[in-house]
Amino acid sequence: MPEGNITAITLFGLVFTRDRRRITPDILNHELIHCRQQLELLYIPFFILYVLEWLVHLVKYRDWWKAYDAISFEKEAHANDTDHSYLAHRKPYNWLRYIGKLPKI
Ligand SMILES: [Zn+2]
Repeated sequence: MPEGNITAITLFGLVFTRDRRRITPDILNHELIHCRQQLELLYIPFFILYVLEWLVHLVKYRDWWKAYDAISFEKEAHANDTDHSYLAHRKPYNWLRYIGKLPKI
């Protein structure tokens, strides 16, 4: 997996980044969507599902980044990261709607 393509990562409600200057409002919103996903799954189940889904897509696509883009949690976050009011009207467990949908590549 090439380094530098991940600007931030969210773990247990905290957003980590190597360079705060690269955090745009859209990236922050993307990470806040992950915060909400993690919270509603009580964290550990989120990470288990995230990795399992990535592995399933890795077998299917045989490409790390395509597999990453196909994860339902990522698809929800990418689809809505420019909508800065998304979390105000988001339905709980909305990531379920993105399972099986084709990723935007
Ligand atoms: Zn993400």
